[in-house]
Amino acid sequence: MATEPFASCAERGYHPFGDYLRRRFGGKVHKVSLHAGFTCPNRDGRVGVGGCTYCINESFNPQAGAPLRSIGEQMADGIAYMRRRFHAEKVFAYFQAFTNTYADLDTLRRVYDEAVVFPEVVGLSIGTRPDCVPDEVLDLVQGYTAKVEVWIEYGIQSIHERTLRRINRGHDFEAFRDAVARTLPRGIRVCAHVILGLPGESHEDMMRTAEALQPLGLHGIKLHHLYVARKTALERDYAAGTLRLFTAPEYVRAVCDFLERIPSGVAVQRLVGDTTSSDVLLAPQWPESKSRVLQMITEEFRRRGSVQGARVAT
Ligand code: SF4
Repeated sequence: MATEPFASCAERGYHPFGDYLRRRFGGKVHKVSLHAGFTCPNRDGRVGVGGCTYCINESFNPQAGAPLRSIGEQMADGIAYMRRRFHAEKVFAYFQAFTNTYADLDTLRRVYDEAVVFPEVVGLSIGTRPDCVPDEVLDLVQGYTAKVEVWIEYGIQSIHERTLRRINRGHDFEAFRDAVARTLPRGIRVCAHVILGLPGESHEDMMRTAEALQPLGLHGIKLHHLYVARKTALERDYAAGTLRLFTAPEYVRAVCDFLERIPSGVAVQRLVGDTTSSDVLLAPQWPESKSRVLQMITEEFRRRGSVQGARVAT
């Protein structure tokens, strides 16, 4: 893992995934989000019911309310869109909705094959839970590393057991550590998802999460602030007045504190959630736009004279 800050850290204060992709693939690369029709063991009763208290998976299902289309059709449309909108010649196939390793091996092989067959695909990214990657699934996923760059994105959100219980994650931090330790030696890159501002967490709790992730050899991280979506279990906590939600300036400071503890080689794949529609989003309704919040993060790093990784011991 690099200990010297990347040039993009000096520019923005953090190491954006887009910069990583440009260096790695020599041009713009965008993700085509896919829904393979899987569900989640934390919703169907295998691990739990009801899912994580904040889960609004339907909102990132690109086909919500519509009949499921084949992965091939989703890829063809996604590639055409990325080319039209961003002039992207290369894409990652991103299995995003729900738990994308939650099926038998033949089904997984079929859907992954259907995605990587397109010549524009340079990467395969699979979002899943750390308790849903038995070795035979990781072996299957490892097979794709011969053809494309492969990432697994694990939701962890927090390292604290009391928080994981409170948000009904249905797994502990040890499951995450174990999954990462079995994934990395296979040449699969790992991205961790973390939420800042989870119920009951202090600033110190969040920093402990960063410090616990620091030595694990992660390649990427996705952060967002806790927000309350309509029709989630979290909505009840919000209605009961038991949630304290970040303002944008508070979140910006927490992000910078967090990223100072994350090595500069770790590519930042997300810093702000995409959910802004008031049909879905209940709170917080920040006056600042997503791009403004990103700018504020860079400004805060500059104000401090700091960058991602500044508090990582070398
Ligand atoms: S693991 Fe993901 S898909 Fe499953 S309930 Fe939690 S947030 Fe939703």
